[in-house]
Amino acid sequence: MAATVVTRFPPSPTGFLHIGGARTALFNWLYAKANGGKMVLRIEDTDRERSTQAAVDAILDGMRWLELDWQGEPVSQASRIERHVEVANQLLVEGKAYRCYCSPEELQAMRDKAKAEGQPIRYDGTWRDRPDSDAPTDIKPVIRFKAPREGQTVVDDQVQGPVTVANKELDDLILLRSDGSPTYNLSVVVDDHDMGITHILRGVDHLTNAARQSQIYQALGWDVPVMAHVPLIHGPDGAKLSKRHGALGVDAYRAMGYLPAAMRNYLVRLGWSHGDDEIFSTEQAIEWFGFGAIGKSPARFDFAKLENLNGHYIRHMAIDDLFEQFIKALPYLPEGPAFQDALTSTKKEQMIIALPALRERAKTLIDLMNGAAFIVADRPLSVNDKAKGVLDGGGRDTLAKLLPTLEAVDHWQFDNLKDAVGQFAEQNDLKLGKIAPPLRAALTGSNVSPGIFDVLNVLGQQESVARIRDQILS
Ligand code: GLU
Repeated sequence: MAATVVTRFPPSPTGFLHIGGARTALFNWLYAKANGGKMVLRIEDTDRERSTQAAVDAILDGMRWLELDWQGEPVSQASRIERHVEVANQLLVEGKAYRCYCSPEELQAMRDKAKAEGQPIRYDGTWRDRPDSDAPTDIKPVIRFKAPREGQTVVDDQVQGPVTVANKELDDLILLRSDGSPTYNLSVVVDDHDMGITHILRGVDHLTNAARQSQIYQALGWDVPVMAHVPLIHGPDGAKLSKRHGALGVDAYRAMGYLPAAMRNYLVRLGWSHGDDEIFSTEQAIEWFGFGAIGKSPARFDFAKLENLNGHYIRHMAIDDLFEQFIKALPYLPEGPAFQDALTSTKKEQMIIALPALRERAKTLIDLMNGAAFIVADRPLSVNDKAKGVLDGGGRDTLAKLLPTLEAVDHWQFDNLKDAVGQFAEQNDLKLGKIAPPLRAALTGSNVSPGIFDVLNVLGQQESVARIRDQILS
């Protein structure tokens, strides 16, 4: 029986969870789910200077927002340093690693020589076969890996295909620094092995490490996990993704009013495809996801596409779910907390009634919030310049004439309102195009809003009439 699939997401906590990291996490999560396996989390916090708890919190928060769960507690790489050292010493004992006593000056001379000869800079193996008895007393040694010099190392990559590196290209890398601290490639191999990782899926920028890590696995007699190196994400112009393109933390996307489900849908399409399908559920993504359909060229991040996709989700999800997501997002949206405070239970009900109309124009939850501003607004409403223009330009008179009609409506419902205002228009020889703008101005304080009968319907008779009176009297 094949071993249970275990994938991992190992962020370095030096900043937020950026879009590339989120995609890597999503791919690992999907692969685990698709294969009945699990994903684990490792915090690669050995760089004590640059790692912060705030970054760990931000990353976990981002994962939770995207609803990407992991198995067990996140493992701190720093907490495993002793184990990394133990493995380095094991390699030393087995003759697969050695102490190197080169001084900084000697290493510099090595680099200068390689440069002068136009050769790549590599450690030349000075201490590879030298006995420890030659060791100078004033130098603290590093421990280097005795990398194979002949032959080649093949990374059988599931995305890139077999990647062959001549072993002479890879020098004897340092496993333990002179202060005894383990280096990155050693820690990753030991952790991945000890955590039972079966599949490594990460950015193609780690491909060179993959060859070195494979050599360490082999020296230890451990199985090399299946590897898949995914192309990086580029901006729409094809250049490396930068802040300008949207290389923000996922928290920024939450603050822009994107839905986690839309975000997942968008992210999974960045580098992976299923025929021409653009919109699909997470369940479908789990069903379909595999390494085979990960492309070899960089995906392009496109804000407009993400926004359209988000709009699609907003328009098509169940109203209750949408409202729940909206409420959940409010604390993170700019001016969301104030909106939240103003959202009394009556206004909540009004907003749910308004949602079908509001969402037609919304691409983000911010659009929804702005669209619903008229609901939470306090009387007397502040009126924008365009709306003011409408009221001043004869709108107030129209409203004064219309008011008794509205006050007389018996059953305040969309259809009845439409009939009543329709009759009023006919009797006064007015077009709806003359009535709606002042009505909108009085009811919402704005020149844009959902359909005017939706607005009346949502606000109810008492509030609508009161808002109209406010304007007539002002
Ligand atoms: N900590 C590494 C990073 O954030 C990931 C290394 C790996 O996936 O092996 O890029």
